[in-house]
Amino acid sequence: MTQNGCCLYCKCSFLRSPYRPQQAVCRRPECQRRRRADYHRQKLEADPEYRQIAHDSQKKWREAHPDYLPRCRAQHPEAVERNRERRQRRDQKRRIRWLEKNNPMACAANSPYTRTPIHAERRANQRNSSPALGRALAGA
Ligand SMILES: [Zn+2]
Repeated sequence: MTQNGCCLYCKCSFLRSPYRPQQAVCRRPECQRRRRADYHRQKLEADPEYRQIAHDSQKKWREAHPDYLPRCRAQHPEAVERNRERRQRRDQKRRIRWLEKNNPMACAANSPYTRTPIHAERRANQRNSSPALGRALAGA
């Protein structure tokens, strides 16, 4: 027996396959692509073995197609620039998270119990001791 479903992505109503009563996504290619991409992303995050296999497979593909990446980068300099900026932001966030984890004063900056002049002075001293932490404490 078939049942009507509402697609998770395009919100259209669709007929579920009688063999897949849990089906949550319609059969439009765009929605199926999104479903697969989301599954892949979740699986990469949750499953170290899957992550390793995907990594090896991508590496193998790049080795079999050595001109692809340089040609792609030459054709899309704006994408290269965008990726560079994103990577720098990611690296900076990672650095700040590390500094916060390893520096109790950074966490204390957001607590109402430590918003006193003496604490502010200590934070200022710490800010001057590390430019990256200073930016983190300033909310940059
Ligand atoms: Zn859909």
